[in-house]
Amino acid sequence: MGNTNIVLNPPPARRYDLHTHSQRSDGTLTPTELVTHAHAAGVEVLALTDHDVTDGLAEAQTAANRLGISLIPGIEVSVTWQGQTVHIVGLNIDPTHNDLQQGTARLREFRQWRAQEIGRRLQKKKIAGAYEGAMRLAKGAIVSRTHFAHFLVDQGYVRGMQQAFKQFLLRGKPGYVPGQWATLSEAVSWIRAAGGQAVIAHPARYALSAGKLKRLFNEFRECGGEAIEVISGSHAPEASLHFAHLAVEHGFLASAGSDYHGPEKPWVALGKLAKLPAFCTPVWHAWQESRL
Ligand code: AMP
Ligand code: MN
Ligand code: MN
Ligand code: MN
Repeated sequence: MGNTNIVLNPPPARRYDLHTHSQRSDGTLTPTELVTHAHAAGVEVLALTDHDVTDGLAEAQTAANRLGISLIPGIEVSVTWQGQTVHIVGLNIDPTHNDLQQGTARLREFRQWRAQEIGRRLQKKKIAGAYEGAMRLAKGAIVSRTHFAHFLVDQGYVRGMQQAFKQFLLRGKPGYVPGQWATLSEAVSWIRAAGGQAVIAHPARYALSAGKLKRLFNEFRECGGEAIEVISGSHAPEASLHFAHLAVEHGFLASAGSDYHGPEKPWVALGKLAKLPAFCTPVWHAWQESRL
């Protein structure tokens, strides 16, 4: 008797984490350590998305090949939209593409100038050596407000990272330096020119009104943006569900990423992301196996 009960099971869902940072921006792990941690935590497809820089991708790729985990080359581009900072993740980018490199080089220059300015402003508040301290912590990589926050914690000016941001680094606080990142259309066009998909990172974090969010989504789509992060380390479960519905309503693909920066607080752990609701179309639905 032949077996008439053969059931073709779909392959088990892979575990994706499409938003993480290394020491090449404001994460605390080297790209190799990040990939190793992610692999150990059960992540099967990992995107490294450092702020405004792709320097860590080559090292991460080497580690990923060794461990047999799929690495998606990514970036998180800083954007100023309507006076507010918005982050656009690029996935499956060609990191050597000229538009992307030239565009983000400008953002890196602004970061460097801004770090000096943050240092000057904190100096006026009797906080000495913040610029030098942040640069030391950045170890020659991209400098970020996170490095200033670490410095303020290390020096005992504040008790934790959140307090450092709240007291000194958020908009309106003494160490905040306003400035112009990329425009939304620049960021999306660099990512697309580099063959990537553009994703609005952690949309709940911007605390936009429903009307403003709609405007952001419409402009993003008009520029060629394709996806929004539905699952994010900085989303509460209700926010994820809300943005899952919005993704469907606006015709966006849905992405999932921890926004991991390292094993320290306040970042979420690797490998613990919630699943995308089944009614969303994942950003990876059309990715070829060869990419993974
Ligand atoms: P920057 O791109 O240099 O302006 O720094 C932004 C980074 O600071 C974000 O990517 C987060 O990693 C971090 N950050 C922003 N707000 C907070 C916060 N309230 N607590 C801890 N980290 C934060
Ligand atoms: Mn960051
Ligand atoms: Mn971000
Ligand atoms: Mn991030």
